[in-house]
Amino acid sequence: MSLRIKSILYIASISLIFLSCSQSAQPTDNGKIKVVCTTGMIEDALINSLDTNFSISALMGPGVDPHLYKATPKDLQLLRAADVIVYNGLHLEGKLHEVFNKLSKTKHLIAVADGIAKDKLRSGDEMSYDPHIWFDVMLWSNAVEYCSYSIRQLYPEFTNSIKPKTNAYLDSLKLLNDEIKAYLNQNLNSDKRILITAHDAFGYFGQAYEFKVLAIKGMSTVSDVNLKHVNELSKLIIQKRIRTIFPETSLPEGNVGGIVEACNKLDHPLKLGSALYSDALGLSNTGKGTYVGMFRYNVKSIVEGLKDE
Ligand SMILES: [Zn+2]
Repeated sequence: MSLRIKSILYIASISLIFLSCSQSAQPTDNGKIKVVCTTGMIEDALINSLDTNFSISALMGPGVDPHLYKATPKDLQLLRAADVIVYNGLHLEGKLHEVFNKLSKTKHLIAVADGIAKDKLRSGDEMSYDPHIWFDVMLWSNAVEYCSYSIRQLYPEFTNSIKPKTNAYLDSLKLLNDEIKAYLNQNLNSDKRILITAHDAFGYFGQAYEFKVLAIKGMSTVSDVNLKHVNELSKLIIQKRIRTIFPETSLPEGNVGGIVEACNKLDHPLKLGSALYSDALGLSNTGKGTYVGMFRYNVKSIVEGLKDE
C-alpha cells in the first residue's frame, strides 16, 4: 500500500471517529445509551418507558433520603459517564444542585418536575414548591410523559419503540389511580382520613385522595423538629382520637415514636403504623421496589392503620 493511500485511510478513520463522537444520538455503552437518574421512582418510570437501547441506573437505593443525599465519588463517575441525567427537581435533591449545575454544561439533564404545570404544584414552606410529585398518580403521569418526550427529542430514532411502551405504562397508571380511589372509597370513611407522617411528603397524596395530611417535619427533612408544633400535633391526635401515625422508610423512626410515647402516657392509645415508602422505593424482591407496588403497599398500610377495628 502506497504512503498516499495509507494517509488517506488514516485521515478517513480519524474523521469517522470524530463523526461518531459528535452524534449524541448514537448508543455509547455496549450499544446502549446510559441514563443515570436520582431516585428509585424515576428509575422505575424510565424502566417502564424506555426500550432496550437504554441502560438505566439510579444513584439512590431503598431507604435513602434524597433531601440529604450527597454525591459519592462513584456517583460522580457514573454521572460523568452518563449520556442523559434525569432528576426530580423542585429542590428534592437539594445537595446535588451544584453537581447538576456543573454537569449541565456538557450533559443532557432532564428534571421530571418540569413536566407539571406550575398551577398544579403545592406551595412549599422553606422551598418554592412541594417536590413530592409522585404521590398523586395522575400528576406523576405528567412527569413520566414529559420525561419520555424529552428523551424522544434527544433520540428520535427510538420514538417508535419508546412511545407505545410509555403510553401503555401511562394507561396502567390511570388504572392504578382508579383502583386506589375505589379501594379507599370501599375501605376508609372520609372522617378517618387524617394521615400523620414523619415529614410532609404526602401533601399531593392528600389532595388527590381526600386526606387531611399533617407531619412532624416540613417538606424537607433538612429542617429541625419544632417542639411547639409537636405539642400541637399531639393535642390534635388526642382530640381527634387518631389511632395511628406513620414512620417512613427513609427517615429515622425517633420523632414519630416520641409522639406515640407521649400520647400513650396521656392514656391515648396511639400506635405506630407500618413504615410508609415516602421518598424511596423498597427492595426489588419485596413487591415494593416498583412505583405501583409501593403505592399499593402505602395505601393498604394507611387503611389498615386508620380504619375502625
Ligand atoms: Zn421528602
